[in-house]
Amino acid sequence: MSTLIDGKAQATRLREEIGRQVSRLRQHELVTPGLAVILVGEDPASQVYVRNKATQAREAGMSSFEYRLADSVPQTKLLDLIERLNRDPEVHGILVQLPLPPQVDESRVIQAIHPDKDIDGFHPINVGNIATGGHGMAPCTPLGCLMLLKHQLGDLSGKHAVVLGRSNIVGKPMASLLLQKHCTVTVAHSRTRQLEEVCCQADILVAAAGRTRLVKGDWIKPGATVIDVGINRIEADGRMRLVGDVDFDSAREVAGALTPVPGGVGPMTIACLLLNTLEATCRQHRIPFPDNIMSLAWGGTSS
Ligand code: NAD
Repeated sequence: MSTLIDGKAQATRLREEIGRQVSRLRQHELVTPGLAVILVGEDPASQVYVRNKATQAREAGMSSFEYRLADSVPQTKLLDLIERLNRDPEVHGILVQLPLPPQVDESRVIQAIHPDKDIDGFHPINVGNIATGGHGMAPCTPLGCLMLLKHQLGDLSGKHAVVLGRSNIVGKPMASLLLQKHCTVTVAHSRTRQLEEVCCQADILVAAAGRTRLVKGDWIKPGATVIDVGINRIEADGRMRLVGDVDFDSAREVAGALTPVPGGVGPMTIACLLLNTLEATCRQHRIPFPDNIMSLAWGGTSS
């Protein structure tokens, strides 16, 4: 039976430490980290995500500014708002909840956010910095996955990591981050042949395909570490529930360690959003980023 990787507990510890650092900033530097969250439209899942992000930012002692725009909002109005937030000294991080309605060009919106305030890590400058092994803002979900892996395994050097999914939000940045940690990385996707055989070679398997229980126990190398990013809503016994991209019951018999859904990657994503906001604040005010939070985030080592 595999070890359960408790993302909820790890995220709670990280958020508590972020809270301590925020109060230190407020007291000694007279700076309050500010997170602006923009939601366009009424998508119920997006509303929940935005509410959770804003609540947890406030709980950590940050200022949270929420902007809710109609589904029909013209692109220029959204770009004007971002421009205003780019100039606002009380706002250190800007997040636009995706997806956006069809009249809005997603990439234009992402590029409008100042890279220093791009706490989602989607701006091409941050993507480029991460891809070239430099220092950039890393997207929150893959960053959270990497922290779970470092905490569980320590040194990742030489391990074969298979990333299932190649989206700009999860799969591709995940691959870049694992390369930075010296893994041998394979990126698999919807057109990959013999997917099961590819997955079977993984010491680390990150499943981010958005397909309910795609990965079965017999796709997993015995003892492998499995990170399940998927969030799929299914109806079971007349109730809605969340399941991952990994078939939990069969995977648990084979994997060495496994994240549950919910309670694995999800809580780490929000904790990393707060971490990025704190880091953005420190950088904008030229305050050194506290060492202890880095060692907590990286499970005692940042190598
Ligand atoms: P996406 O739809 O943008 O990308 C999915 C990727 O999976 C694509 O690259 C596609 O090629 C690949 N894929 C699809 N079907 C496949 C198949 N049958 N076999 C192999 N590859 C396949 O999705 P995304 O935004 O990257 O998100 C992936 C999943 O992660 C979703 O379930 C999403 O809800 C979840 N997610 C969770 C968090 C979190 O915080 N836990 C954050 C972001 C996304």
